[in-house]
Parts: sequence; C-alpha cells; structure tokens
Amino acid sequence: MKEEVNNNYNKMGSRIKEHSADLIKINKQLKKEIAEHRESEAALHESDKRNTALLQAMPDILFVLGRDGTYIDIKAARKEDLTIPIDQLIGKNVRDIGFSDYDLKAILNCIENVLQTAKRQFLEYELNTPKELRFYEAVVVPFGKYEILASVRDITKHRKAEKALKEGEARYRNMFNSNQSVMLIVDPENADIVDANPAAISFYGWSYKELTRKKITDIASLTIDQVFAKVELVKNWHHQHYIDHHRLITGDIREVEVFNSPVIINGKTFMFPIIHDISKRIADEQKVQSLIKELKESRTAADVANLAKSTFLANMSHELRTPLNSILGFSQLLEMEKDSFDTRQVEFLEHIKNSSNHLLEMVNDILDLSKIEAGKIEINKKPFALNQMMARLPMAVKSLVFQKGIELIVDIDFDCEIIQADEVRLKQVLYNLLSNAIKFTDPKKKIGIKARTSVDVAVIEVWDEGRGIDENDLGKVFDPFEQVGKTKQQGTGLGLAISRKLIELHGGTLTAESRIGEGSRFIIHIPGIILQSRKEIEQKKVKFPTGKRELERRSNILVVEDNVTNQMVIEAILNRLGYGVHIEGSGHEGIEAAMKEECDLILMDIQLPDMDGIETMREIRRKCKKRVPIVALTAYAMKGDLEKYKTEGFDGYISKPIVIERLK
Ligand code: ADP
Repeated sequence: MKEEVNNNYNKMGSRIKEHSADLIKINKQLKKEIAEHRESEAALHESDKRNTALLQAMPDILFVLGRDGTYIDIKAARKEDLTIPIDQLIGKNVRDIGFSDYDLKAILNCIENVLQTAKRQFLEYELNTPKELRFYEAVVVPFGKYEILASVRDITKHRKAEKALKEGEARYRNMFNSNQSVMLIVDPENADIVDANPAAISFYGWSYKELTRKKITDIASLTIDQVFAKVELVKNWHHQHYIDHHRLITGDIREVEVFNSPVIINGKTFMFPIIHDISKRIADEQKVQSLIKELKESRTAADVANLAKSTFLANMSHELRTPLNSILGFSQLLEMEKDSFDTRQVEFLEHIKNSSNHLLEMVNDILDLSKIEAGKIEINKKPFALNQMMARLPMAVKSLVFQKGIELIVDIDFDCEIIQADEVRLKQVLYNLLSNAIKFTDPKKKIGIKARTSVDVAVIEVWDEGRGIDENDLGKVFDPFEQVGKTKQQGTGLGLAISRKLIELHGGTLTAESRIGEGSRFIIHIPGIILQSRKEIEQKKVKFPTGKRELERRSNILVVEDNVTNQMVIEAILNRLGYGVHIEGSGHEGIEAAMKEECDLILMDIQLPDMDGIETMREIRRKCKKRVPIVALTAYAMKGDLEKYKTEGFDGYISKPIVIERLK
C-alpha cells in the first residue's frame, strides 16, 4: 500500500515537474508574446501618431462614404475647411448637401465608377455656400468592401486667381484690340512683329497675317542696329519716346511718334510700341507756323503804318503849333490892350484864348503820344529822393484844389528815399493823375497822394472820392482818345494813355481801381530801388539860370527865328516887356549877329533853314568870347525836354507858343 502510495506520489511528482516545465515554457512564451505585443502596440501608436500628423499636415479633407453616398466618416485637419460641421454631415447623403444637379450627377457617377472598376477617379465640382461659390477637386478610391474614400481639396483660391487672370488678359486683349492707337508687339530677340491690333492693320494696310510676318525694320526707318539698341533699352525696362518714319502698304511714308515700353507675356519680355501718326499734326503745325509768320509780317506792316501815323501826327502837330503860336501870341498882345475894348470884345478874346489853349493842350498831347509810339522818347533814369519830389507836388496843384474846394491828403512814407526813375516824366504822370482827380471830384470831397517804397519797388497812388469809373470802362480809360462817363469834361482823352506808356517805359505799371460814385485810385509801380546818399543827388541836380534874374530891362535880346509871323509875335511881346530885340532868320545870320551885336540873351529856334539851332548855338559858343546865355525856342519838343537841351549846351528852354507870363 505504502509502495503504491509512494509510486503514486512519485508519479505525481514527475507529472508536477512535467507540468511545471510546461508552465515555465508557457510563461516564457507568454512573456515573449507580451513583449512582442507591447512592441507592436508602441509601433501602432507611433504609426497612429504619424498618421494623425500626416492628416493634420494634409490640406485635403478625407470623406469616407458608403456605396449609396452616405457620409460615414470625415477627417479634416482644419474644421473651418468644411462648410457644414462634421457632426451634421455624418449620416447625411451627398444628395442632401445642395450640389447642383450637374455636379451631383457627376459625383454619383464617380462613386459608381469606383465601385465598378475599383480604380481611382478624379472629379471637380462646385458648392454654393451662403458666402460664395467654392470650387473642389477630389480623388476618389475604393475603401474596404463597401466603402469609398474621397480626398477633397478646396481649389477656390486657385480658381479665382485663374479667373482674374483670364479676365485681366481678356481686358488687356480688349484694350489692345479696341484701341484707336496703333499698337504692335515685337519680339526683342529677332525684331519680329508678333501681334498687331486692328488700328495697326488699318493704318499700315497689310492684313494681320502679313503684318505679323514682318519685322519692325520692314516698316520703320530704323536700322536693325538701332532696333536692337532700343530692344536693349526696352529689355532693361527703359521706356522710350521717339519720332520715326513708318512705311505703309501704299509706299507712303508717315511721320510717327513712338512710345515704346516693355511688356511681359507668358514670362517673356516683348517690345510694345504704341504708334501715333503725327504727319497731320506736323502739317498743321507748319500751317500754324506759316500763319504766325504771316501774322508777324502783318504786325510788322501795321507797326510800320503806325510809325508812319505817329510821324505824321508829330509833324502835323508841329505844323499846327506854328500858327497856334501866332494865335496865342497875338491874343496875348491884344489882352494887354484890353482896357480899350468893350465887354463883348473882351469876351471874344477870352474865347479865342481858351480855345487856342485847349487846342494847344491837344496838340501837345498828340505830339507826346506819337513820339512815345514812334519810340522817340528816352527815359532818363536818375536817382532822386521820391519823398522830396512828392512833397513838392501839392504846391503845383494848390490853386486848382483851392478853387474847387477840395481837400488834398498827402501821405508820404518818410522812409521812401531814393528811387531810380525819370523825375521829369514821373512828375508829368503825377500832374496828369492829380488834375484828373481834381477834374472828376466834386467840392468838399477829398483827393490824395500816397507813396511807399519796399526793397525793389516804389508804389505811388493818386486817389479821389470823385465820380468813379464804371467797371466796364476801367480798361478803356488807358486807350487813346477814350473819355468815359456820362458827362464829358474838357480834355483830350490822351493823358492816361501817355501816362501808362511813360510808366511802362520805366518797366513799371499804371493800373486803376474804381467804383462808380465812390472814387478812383490810380496805382503806379516803379521797379528798382537804390539807396544813395542825398548829398550825392543834390550835387547832381541841374540848375538853370532863369534868364529873368540875369536880365535887366532894356537888355538886348537876339532872336534867331525863320518864321515871319513868329518873328512878329516875339518882337511885339519882347518890346512890350521892355527889351531891345534884334531878329535874324537863319543860323548863319544868327552867328554873325551874335559876334557883332551886343546882346545879353539869345533866343534860338531849333528848326532853322540852313543849320539847326543846336549847331548854330555850338558855333556861337565856339566863336564868341563873351558867354551869352542861349535859350532854345522850339515848338518841336515834348513836355520835359529840358534835360536834353541842357546836355546839348543850352542854358534854358522856352516852348512855343510863347506865354508872356513865363517870359516876364
Ligand atoms: P482826359 O482827362 O483828358 O479826358 P485822360 O486820358 O486823362 O483824358 O482820361 C480819360 C478818361 O478817363 C477821362 O475822360 C475820364 O472819363 C476818365 N477818368 C480819368 N481819371 C478819372 C478819375 N480820377 N475819375 C473819374 N474818371 C476818370
């Protein structure tokens, strides 16, 4: 029994051993398997991670669809790529998404094809979202037994860019084709014309085909070298503009203006010349030039005629002054005897005097204007103190202002010192403006003068509170013989025309501002201020002997005058004033008399029959030991020609007709 038990026990022991060995083996195997499983799990995990990363990096959206088109699964790296959220999409069918009939048909066809052929298919479709129309491109493959995998890419941006490009190209093509300007596209490599617009075809006359088989050198006058020089410039993006000659199908050569610039087509730079036919413009310009020439010629002819008119007027007024001289002279002589006249005779005499004075004023003005227009007036610019000259002005018009009961306001800036101008002419202008101001201003109103200087300009103003000038007439008043306003005043209508011309000869301006009923303002601008010491100017001042102070009554006066009537007038006047008079009628006789006769003063006419007064005066100066004052006596002189006669060597100047008051 015991042996049996031992046997059994041994059997059990060896079986246990066997089982333990098995168990160890199994355990080993299990451990190995567990390790392997862990490894493959880690590998799986790694590959999952990689797949997720891959999915995230992929721009595409992955759709898993059932064979009937139901959405089973969706993977999108960016949720915003989906127009409908994933949870709303899953379970829905492609038929419920809102594809157009056309696209839905294409999608279902594609699924059908994949299922039947088990080959991948390509598909493009659109989806109208609330925001915009979006474009997609899909690669569809079988996925497991009954499923479909679609990898979908959003190509909206790309499509839009493509569309814009197409539209842009169409627009440029349209511009090219419909442009009125002649346009070519030239290949810079070989000077071939590769494109031409309809305007080019109609301009050159060749068909599109013919034109695009030519080189630019076939129609342009440029040589191939010149073309290539331009090509180089164009290649470097230099825009060019040049004049050329182009040949047409007819053989005609046209002058053209070429604007050449580069243009890039499909990545290659081409020359893009825009060509303008300027032959007509050139012909028009030539016409304009010849018109200008004609105009210039007629202007010159008009100037010549104007000069002739001025010379005529100057001569006429000179001729008029001679008889006027005697009318005025004799009426002055008559006036001296007026005590013996009755009232009517005195009145007649007054009329004669007034009318001849007015006539004289007119003749003088015409003479002035015609001399200015004939360019015979020279402006003698010298520095002088403007404020001093202006301060003396009121004295000259004092009696006129007083008689009319007008107030004169003087406003002169003491800082305005030295200006460079012709003092005599400027005074002439200012007297004219002042006498107008007095003439056109009612009693109790004001008139005024004002002067200012700045760095390089003197501004002088003469203003009044008079009747004013209508806005429309303001421009006219500077025209010769223009008198404006309802009531005409005595005058010639020449004063302002002369004044403006005299100021313009200074390089300055004379303008007017006025309001009807409120007054006028005449403004003179004289450019060029200089500063100089006053002493220097004082030294330069001209001093004339007045004759009056130096001559004693009963002195002898030699008169050299050829006109018999003038001789009579002068003799009568001088005798009346108590002088002894010796008259000679020519230059030579005058010289002889000056040498022989004892005379204290010589009055010398300028226009003498043999030699003129200036020459006669010089001869007398040369030949006579005694220095007798010689005074020029002339009708042919403009107001303020004193300086000129002084430089010639005269001691003074008396303008004819002689005014007795001035001789006294
Ligand atoms: P005149 O005074 O001799 O007529 P002007 O040439 O000096 O010639 O003047 C031309 C015209 O301009 C005058 O007739 C007058 O109608 C107008 N005029 C000139 N100065 C004034 C002024 N201060 N106020 C109003 N009108 C003026």
